[in-house]
Amino acid sequence: MVTPAKLALFRLLPSIDELLHSEPLQPILVRQGRAATLEAARAVLEGLRARIAANEMTEAQIAGAVDDVPREIEERLKTAMAYSLRPVINATGVILHTNLGRAPLSRAALDRIVEVSQGYCNLELDLETGKRGKRDIHVDRLLAKLLAGTRREVATIVVNNNAAAVLLTLNSLAEGGEVIVSRGELVEIGGSFRIPDVMAKSGAVLREVGTTNRTRLADYEGAVNERTKLLLRVHRSNFEIRGFTQQPPLEELSDLARRHGIPLMEDLGSGDVFDLRQVGVHGEPTIADSLRAGVSMVTFSGDKLLGGPQAGLITGVHDLVAKVRSNPLFRALRADKMFHAALEATLLAYLREDYDTLPVLHSMRLTEEAIDQRAQHLTHRLHISTVGLNVEVLPSRSVIGGGSAPGSTLPTRVVAVSSPHLSADAIAEKLRAWTPPIIARVEAGRTLLDLRTVEPEQDAILFAAAKSLLR
Ligand SMILES: *Cc1c(COP(=O)(O)O)cnc(C)c1O
Repeated sequence: MVTPAKLALFRLLPSIDELLHSEPLQPILVRQGRAATLEAARAVLEGLRARIAANEMTEAQIAGAVDDVPREIEERLKTAMAYSLRPVINATGVILHTNLGRAPLSRAALDRIVEVSQGYCNLELDLETGKRGKRDIHVDRLLAKLLAGTRREVATIVVNNNAAAVLLTLNSLAEGGEVIVSRGELVEIGGSFRIPDVMAKSGAVLREVGTTNRTRLADYEGAVNERTKLLLRVHRSNFEIRGFTQQPPLEELSDLARRHGIPLMEDLGSGDVFDLRQVGVHGEPTIADSLRAGVSMVTFSGDKLLGGPQAGLITGVHDLVAKVRSNPLFRALRADKMFHAALEATLLAYLREDYDTLPVLHSMRLTEEAIDQRAQHLTHRLHISTVGLNVEVLPSRSVIGGGSAPGSTLPTRVVAVSSPHLSADAIAEKLRAWTPPIIARVEAGRTLLDLRTVEPEQDAILFAAAKSLLR
């Protein structure tokens, strides 16, 4: 039952229509659009109605609240219309963190995306002839130069990601036939990328050989038959097999493939151009290593160790790449101009040996001493300005991640933060709530900040966030 007195109170509220036509709402309508403003206005009025219905407001209070309505609407819209995909500070020390967007792009790659995408570009136009061109030639040209040392004539095409590259290559080269893979390489990468499942979707039949820990050349040889279309080697991206193990070297596998006139394909996963042995990481083959060993077709990601945008690159001998390109699936999986622009800039950095401009390589090449210096500085500043927070520098390991170099880590120094009043998880949660959100690592009851993956300019943000933990 609504009493006449209450009805009078409700009447103090403006109608939606009055509100939308009121002076203060005009700039908000222009900024945020009619639909969102209308929704926010309805919600604010609904809130006031509920409070009036619950006898929570006097006439004077309602009058004040009505004056405040435009501001309330604006506040609501600030949250509702804010970006949900946001930059964060990666203090985990995991360089290629799939949940955090993998490789950060270089300045040059970002500039290229803007320059090429803000207007029109010659993505598929040959400027000399004026005829239709191919979007892959921009990347193809640079990768051919980078791999010139292998003395193999290769071509490259680009698709949406490496999962697409594997699917497309298998489908193009082996549909209806058999593909021989070692049982030690039937990997799952995560996000439901499993070699047996991708194989099934490609229309090729998986022919497993060997055992989990040992596969010999003879196992491959024994499985070759008239239906065999491809030999496949898969990089064990996220795990290692140790102990009593065996795997034929790529050279032997490629010899076998050649003798039978079957191509050898390798899913490299990360597929780096830069030789990681220079930063003390072993067991991560370069693209050139594979081609030199005789592999006819490699696939790899653009946003793992290469340090570029999400993409799947298919590099191999011309006739095989041509076959993949002519597959109608290629059209369904192709990459946008932004990927091509960013890839071109990324590959140019390798050609110029300008490695430190690529954030992924820069992070990998940071020395333990350089990280220690920043960690000590941050810790020192926190010691001076905070009481009750335990902060110390500890030796630790940064993880490369992203399914690259399984088990390979880089020595680092982390800032360990703990408090008698807050659990490590609670500290991590508070850091995540910071603007920008800070993602830390929690280990053995401590919250760890690894500055290897943090820009030096962001150290000040870590300081402010850590200081605020006491409040
Ligand atoms: C990461 C990875 C993939 C999937 O690559 P995406 O670019 O994430 O699609 C496939 N194979 C291997 C061996 C990998 O490491």
